[in-house]
Amino acid sequence: MTRWTGPLLLLLAACRPAGPPDAPAAAVPFPKRCSSCALESGPDHVCSITRWCASCARDAASGHRCERTGYCPKCRAETGRGHVCGKTTACLSPACAKGGWPVDRGPNHACGKSTYCRDCKVDAGVDHSCRASTWFCPRCEVEASEAHLCDFSRYCASCSSERAVRGRHVCGRTRFCPPCASDQTFVHAHSDPPGAAN
Ligand SMILES: [Zn+2]
Ligand SMILES: [Zn+2]
Ligand SMILES: [Zn+2]
Ligand SMILES: [Zn+2]
Ligand SMILES: [Zn+2]
Ligand SMILES: [Zn+2]
Ligand SMILES: [Zn+2]
Ligand SMILES: [Zn+2]
Repeated sequence: MTRWTGPLLLLLAACRPAGPPDAPAAAVPFPKRCSSCALESGPDHVCSITRWCASCARDAASGHRCERTGYCPKCRAETGRGHVCGKTTACLSPACAKGGWPVDRGPNHACGKSTYCRDCKVDAGVDHSCRASTWFCPRCEVEASEAHLCDFSRYCASCSSERAVRGRHVCGRTRFCPPCASDQTFVHAHSDPPGAAN
């Protein structure tokens, strides 16, 4: 390569006729034949994980739904709307396909009951509050906050505090006390170690 090649290429690039930018290139070199698995493969091909989807003209993993899911090369999985890399994959259950679009699911996902909150990076139920950093409890299948005790409490979105599942909860007046495993008034406190009578 002579030292003139660089400037020459720049010159040629500058002289290229102005066309529509990023027009769908007619000369897409894919799919190619993978030399290892002999399958049609695109730029993101991973042997035994992806196959070429002709109608989407891209690599696709298992669970692919044409035009509904997309393959994430980093996660090596098919992903839906709201994908967060390394955290979610597409949930293919019909219960989660909102308007035909699969939602992304995290590790605590329950179909039809939780979606993934991109801000909090957790599975979130209907009562989810980003401000209160609540999360979806997969065991209770309800939203839970810091004071959550499985089977006994859930998050109350109206007053932004944990409340007992059973018994009376009055928003703004009672909240869940984990040692008592029940709703107590705001003045209620444990001066003694938990377990002692109060
Ligand atoms: Zn291959
Ligand atoms: Zn497809
Ligand atoms: Zn990803
Ligand atoms: Zn689901
Ligand atoms: Zn959130
Ligand atoms: Zn729970
Ligand atoms: Zn409440
Ligand atoms: Zn208590």
